Amino acid sequence: MSRIGFIGLGNMGAPMAANLVKAGHQVTGFDVAGVTVEGVAMAGSAAETARGQDAVITMLPNGDILRSVYAEIVPAGEAGAVFIDCSTVDVDSARAAHEMAKAAGLLSVDAPVSGGIGGAAAGTLTFMAGGSEEAFAKALPLFEVMGGKTVHCGEAGAGQSAKICNNMILGISMIGVCEAFALADKLGLDRQSLFDVVSTSSGSCWSVNTYCPAPGIGPKSPADNGYKPGFAADLMLKDLKLSQQAAESVDAATPMGQRATELYADFVAGEGKGMDFSAMLPHLMGKGRR
Ligand code: NAD
Repeated sequence: MSRIGFIGLGNMGAPMAANLVKAGHQVTGFDVAGVTVEGVAMAGSAAETARGQDAVITMLPNGDILRSVYAEIVPAGEAGAVFIDCSTVDVDSARAAHEMAKAAGLLSVDAPVSGGIGGAAAGTLTFMAGGSEEAFAKALPLFEVMGGKTVHCGEAGAGQSAKICNNMILGISMIGVCEAFALADKLGLDRQSLFDVVSTSSGSCWSVNTYCPAPGIGPKSPADNGYKPGFAADLMLKDLKLSQQAAESVDAATPMGQRATELYADFVAGEGKGMDFSAMLPHLMGKGRR
């Protein structure tokens, strides 16, 4: 059993903390919104949550919030404790968080996740981790409780790098799949036929096979639930923006990532607000070529 502090008990953090409790860990939590989770002892502040713990996990909205929370919790950390940030943030903020932890004699891992709220509840998330071997080894048993697969991607920031590359592919592929279904409709091609072909052909990908944007086709997905998220379009936009910020910082050519960012920005500014990111399909269907 470990003593664990958990900061940020939102859609993802709450079920992740609940799984740690279920596995027999002693979990103390804090969220500015005053959220409570069964079995988690609630602390009055982030610093209090971090004090005297073997591990401190953060699951926060963005890099600025992560930096300000780390400024509070790092001085409260116990020497040798491992600080694990599971939020999706920019690579620079992830590296800054590592630096702060290292300067205070703490171990740290950036460990963003894939798998969404369903994966968080089921304990089947994929963790992509960055940090030293020692820090990773200390965090691994907790990843094994909350997730199904963990990849140690490299040093500080490598987890976030993997996450934004993965989600850039996802944003691009979802738009491609939505374009294909919208085109097929106008060509008079049956959606089920398109799915049956593509899902077993060279166009197959997660956006078709697992998360098909056409209602009533393929496994159940947000398209079958009125495009209620799931994975919200504005979170996809956040991740695409992170990919473009990273690409800019290292002068990497990502023309499709850039276009996907523009398309999701346009979508979220209009009918896509509050919708699942796969609602790009009805959005495109309402458009013509020009
Ligand atoms: P969320 O908004 O539901 O949860 C974030 C929580 O952090 C909120 O409860 C908020 O009150 C709390 N918070 C904000 N500032 C705080 C502070 N200073 N101190 C303590 N708590 C604070 O978001 P989420 O969906 O749980 O996502 C969390 C992170 O996981 C994000 O970085 C997101 O990009 C990433 N992520 C989300 C999904 C998903 O499907 N929702 C999937 C993978 C990764």
